[in-house]
Amino acid sequence: MLDSKIVITCACTGAETTKAHNPALPTTPEEIADTAVACREAGAAILHLHVRDENGKPTQDPKVFRKAIDLIRKRTDIVVEITTGGAVGDTAEERLRPVTELEPEMASLDCGTVNFGDDYIVNTLPVMRKFAEEFRRRKVRPTLECFDLGHVFSSRILIKEGLLEPPYHYGLVMNVPGAVPFTLDTMESFVRALPEGADFTLMGIGRASLPAQYAAIARGGWIRVGFEDNVYYSKGVLAESNAQFVARAARLAKEAGLAPATPADVRAYLKLRT
Ligand code: ZN
Repeated sequence: MLDSKIVITCACTGAETTKAHNPALPTTPEEIADTAVACREAGAAILHLHVRDENGKPTQDPKVFRKAIDLIRKRTDIVVEITTGGAVGDTAEERLRPVTELEPEMASLDCGTVNFGDDYIVNTLPVMRKFAEEFRRRKVRPTLECFDLGHVFSSRILIKEGLLEPPYHYGLVMNVPGAVPFTLDTMESFVRALPEGADFTLMGIGRASLPAQYAAIARGGWIRVGFEDNVYYSKGVLAESNAQFVARAARLAKEAGLAPATPADVRAYLKLRT
């Protein structure tokens, strides 16, 4: 555990949110770099990164990721975690390309198949093994994203097979429509199923975002906020920016006696490749 500190991740763009949901959504590499700087200043240590093409549609094109990351790197030391979840309908090969071509220090690794509203995301064990092997070969630290309880157990199969190395960092995604709702009981069942010594970032989707932040603080987890998960700052009120969410999360943490961790803290703690 990080002593008296908490890691705040900002998922600033996502794949499904649009400017129609919230006009402040950053979609171009330039907008995303501006967001990265503002979120770092507000207390975020990790930026969870999706990118969009020139029409604002989600893309896994490594060239677009490269452009965004280069702009971010010029201006801030925030840890960049690339998505390999991609968007609904992407093939496994498309989703993996940014990892194999850019070798980021961190990336998400989805741990199972799940409903996603009326759509679905497919991650079979063979696909997960392939992802884990490519991550391990390149020393890319995975955030093991679990949308349902069975996903935690699937990740443990990968650990048993020697495909994942500690420290294990989980992303517990709760309240996706069609998957597990967020309650303290469901969170607890996830946390108790984690391997010993694992850390977790709690992601409450939609209206679960704020309660999940309080729950993460209470349960020793880390926080994720951002437009990928939620576009409302409070009931009926759109957030002005991703940084506004980060600033609130940092305030909640400080009131609980926790300082927001820095990117340097995360790089040391998760043993990221520099
Ligand atoms: Zn994502």
